[in-house]
Amino acid sequence: MSKVTELAIVGAGPAGMAAAIEAQQMGIETLLIDSASAPGGQVYRQTPPEFGDSPQPAARKMFDQLTHVNIPIYRDTIVWGIFPEDNKHLLGLYGPDEVPRRILAKTVILAPGAYERPTPFPGWTLPGVMTVGAALILVKHQHILPGRRILISGTGPLSWLLALKLIEAGVEMVKVLDANPFPWQGWRYLPRFWGQGERLKEGLDAILAMWRTGQMVRWGQMVLSAQGKDQVESATFGRMDGSNSQTIPVDTICLGYGFVPAVQLSRQAGCEHFYDETSGGWIPVRDGWLGSTVPGIFTAGDGAGIGGKDTALCEGQLAALGVARFLGKNIPPKRVALVQRNLQRQKQFAEVLNTLFPFPIQTLDLLSDQTYICRCEGVRLADIRKMISEGATTLGILRKLTRAGMGRCQGRFCGHTLAAILSQETGQPLDQLTLPTPRPPVMPIPLHGLDDHEED
Ligand SMILES: Cc1cc2nc3c(=O)[nH]c(=O)nc-3n(C[C@H](O)[C@H](O)[C@H](O)COP(=O)(O)OP(=O)(O)OC[C@H]3O[C@@H](n4cnc5c(N)ncnc54)[C@H](O)[C@@H]3O)c2cc1C
Repeated sequence: MSKVTELAIVGAGPAGMAAAIEAQQMGIETLLIDSASAPGGQVYRQTPPEFGDSPQPAARKMFDQLTHVNIPIYRDTIVWGIFPEDNKHLLGLYGPDEVPRRILAKTVILAPGAYERPTPFPGWTLPGVMTVGAALILVKHQHILPGRRILISGTGPLSWLLALKLIEAGVEMVKVLDANPFPWQGWRYLPRFWGQGERLKEGLDAILAMWRTGQMVRWGQMVLSAQGKDQVESATFGRMDGSNSQTIPVDTICLGYGFVPAVQLSRQAGCEHFYDETSGGWIPVRDGWLGSTVPGIFTAGDGAGIGGKDTALCEGQLAALGVARFLGKNIPPKRVALVQRNLQRQKQFAEVLNTLFPFPIQTLDLLSDQTYICRCEGVRLADIRKMISEGATTLGILRKLTRAGMGRCQGRFCGHTLAAILSQETGQPLDQLTLPTPRPPVMPIPLHGLDDHEED
């Protein structure tokens, strides 16, 4: 089965949902596709109905609007590839039987969000080590405690939010480390906090909850190693240079060193990208309407640069207006001006967070030769260093020689670390490295999902 449409939107998080609502209101024939079973994305992820949880008001509003505009949504459906065809874009889909295998779209908005930046250290592959986002999903959306004695190591407010949820859920011990120093310079950006009351309240609630349990954030510290036989039993933490270190018994370590934009589809589509550390890494080049360098492909939300849920929402709206313009529809100038203004305000706030809590690149110094870098293919730092010393100076060659990044996750876990190691070992700046060619499928699907057989 295949289907033709004016606009296909990949991802039903805040960016994709906002884009779909805006586009449908502009009279654009729209389809929304998401690999999850319900719209919401990471931040507005819906809990199973049996839990009886009610969504946050902002999420509720978007779900109601989506229902109101009546957009077809393909749920549980992975977009595994994107290919050019007759000046249009062919999307390969894998989902339930009723979902078409292919969609031919005049325009596409890619809003696939981001994934967490995994940060290796000795012991990071032990069961019990997980990301802050994974722990948040467990505790917030599945009502499951990730552990009893938990160390959170990362940077930025998402760690505090997790600490709050864990304390509220009655976890025995929560210790929070932030790899960056206390952000004293934050006061300089105070005007940009205007209108961010909800987020400031969340942050303050978390800090107060930690204070009440006697656990304040330890600045400039991070987990250095994890020990255990079949699972994490203890963690050593301290300053990055190894000083002030101590070892405590824990059963869970949550890592939260920021996010990486999911650019697999935009790269596969042939869009130009560039490296921007504060936006999370490689991101697509975009014009003022969020159009990429490939005509008809637009990108919005965290998948085009880490900006948080409110930036994502505004970007979704602007991308839909960009699509309307591309398709030759009349777009109301007042609406455009309002969306651009809102986006500017949200971006300024996101930039503050990204500046105050940068990724601590020095974490590479923690690695030992035996530390796994690519856990899918079991490649250790020593294997990578050996190949670099023998002349592998590009990510593509390193990948072929070591298989790092060729496993199930297709480099989502190790891609950034590999790039950082190659940059450090060879002196090539990160922004000058060429990324390996992206291959379909961008996510694991069964082989029969690639079957191109027409059934209709
Ligand atoms: C694990 C995690 C937990 C987070 N928790 C919080 C939090 O508690 N509070 C907070 O303020 N922020 C949180 N964030 C950040 C916040 O979720 C984002 O800033 C925001 O959701 C970005 O919106 P988005 O629409 O760009 O992407 P997302 O909300 O990530 O939505 C992207 C959607 O695209 C879908 N998708 C991706 N690739 C494909 C594909 N190939 N085919 C089909 N569907 C696809 C995904 O299933 C997802 O539903 C979290 C982020 C992550 C990654």
